[in-house]
Amino acid sequence: MAIKGPVGLGRGRRRRMTPALKRWRLSLELTQAEFGKWLGVSRATVNRWEGGLQAIPKSVELLESLTRGRIIPAAKDQHILPLTVSGRRVREGGETMNKTLAIIKPDAVQSGKTGKIVAHLEQSGFTLRALRLTRLDSERAAEFYKVHREQPFYAALVSFMTSGASIPIVLEADGAVRKLREVIGATDPAEAAPGTVRKLYAESKERNAIHASDSDENAEREITFFFSRRELLDSGG
Ligand code: ATP
Ligand code: MG
Repeated sequence: MAIKGPVGLGRGRRRRMTPALKRWRLSLELTQAEFGKWLGVSRATVNRWEGGLQAIPKSVELLESLTRGRIIPAAKDQHILPLTVSGRRVREGGETMNKTLAIIKPDAVQSGKTGKIVAHLEQSGFTLRALRLTRLDSERAAEFYKVHREQPFYAALVSFMTSGASIPIVLEADGAVRKLREVIGATDPAEAAPGTVRKLYAESKERNAIHASDSDENAEREITFFFSRRELLDSGG
């Protein structure tokens, strides 16, 4: 049986497009993952396009030819986005843009502060996009906080995070990551600003009521750590 080439991609077009696409990406100084995000596809898809293993959609090809391979840097900086492969416009950063992850930690859940903390977050201007009551096991807690594995408090932190139920929440707002860090306050409640969640509800530096992602990159990792795409409600929800 004959092995079929990528659907809809003639040899000539493929020969012309695959190096053109890669040149275009490199001229934008984007990694495959970033370029994919920008176009609304996965890194693996970009990799297959560049390797000639998968058809480059007409919409992407058209975009490349319209811009002669350059997306005007200003457009990139201003987050003016191309069409996605399916022809829909995507928002920058895809589904996790303007979102961050909070976790109401076991100390706060156990002492019945969940309702107050959720109300505080909503009153601070966040919209809930996903929420679950769960209990982390050691493996998951260790994985979640692995950036701290060299820290002296790591074992105690994992043990605390598995000591009872916790509540991961996806929150949306403009500048969500930074905003939530402000709303929760410093790690140690003794140093947290008045009116912050930790000042109001945390017991100590370790038992500090709430977690918040500290960068857009980590927010994306942490959101997908807890929730599938289908569980994230979009802005219309
Ligand atoms: P989080 O990541 O939970 O939002 P954070 O970013 O304010 O908190 P990190 O430095 O990332 O603080 O520490 C992660 C968590 O580890 C803290 O929230 C706290 O529960 C615990 N922790 C941090 N430093 C200490 C410490 N010196 N002693 C005990 N526990 C600590
Ligand atoms: Mg942290």
